Amino acid sequence: MSDILYEGKSKTVCRGPDDDSYIIRYKDNATAFNGEKKEVIAGKGKLNAAISNLIFEYLAKNGIETHLTKIIDDTSAVVKKAEIVMVEVIVRNIAAGSFSKKYGVPEGTALKNITTEFSLKSDELGDPMINDSQITAIGIATDDELSQMRQKALRINELLCALFLKMGIKLVDFKLEFGRCGGKIILCDEISPDSCRFWDAATNQKLDKDVFRRDLGDVLEGYREVLKRLNLSEAGNA
Ligand code: UDP
Repeated sequence: MSDILYEGKSKTVCRGPDDDSYIIRYKDNATAFNGEKKEVIAGKGKLNAAISNLIFEYLAKNGIETHLTKIIDDTSAVVKKAEIVMVEVIVRNIAAGSFSKKYGVPEGTALKNITTEFSLKSDELGDPMINDSQITAIGIATDDELSQMRQKALRINELLCALFLKMGIKLVDFKLEFGRCGGKIILCDEISPDSCRFWDAATNQKLDKDVFRRDLGDVLEGYREVLKRLNLSEAGNA
């Protein structure tokens, strides 16, 4: 078992095979509402690892540099060591979740334009929303880094919307994390049903973590469906 460097809520970060890498291990733990709701869901780690790996490989093939270097097994991968930029980048195509609540826009309303927003990565503070001038004022990221993250996030949205549309899935919204590596900003963390809202295009059935957050039934049913469709898609055939 490799040395654990950091125990996250849904992943463990371990010492990598060399100084420029880490090993990340996906766990079965699920949390919501800033850690207030917790559960172990057997099999979630494997599903998220498989889904995120397929998506990261698809993005890499389409010109997005990511931290993923090598898949080790069902739940582990070698990733580039990056210094995580301490903001979460959220992209929205359709109103849902905190956006619907905060702005009184019914869930499912198609947005007239894509929105991007940043949240400070801080469990202690509850990940508060933060704007560009506040981010640069505190020194969390530079203007150039913010513009790179926003541009990359929008390109990722384009690539993923196209991919998921063909799979009969609406990409409602998602969260990304970026890191600094070798003077560049690269995509880090994961893209999975834990960090995205995926709705079946025909029925609007939720295929993501909202099933856990809102106690809507068997959460992994949706995750399995996303993986099944991804495997049959361009991302699975690559
Ligand atoms: N999200 C995430 N981690 C967070 C907050 C949000 O992965 O700490 C994802 C969430 O799954 C959704 C999107 O970002 O796909 C937008 O989430 P929102 O701001 O609506 O927050 P929520 O309603 O999930 O609290």
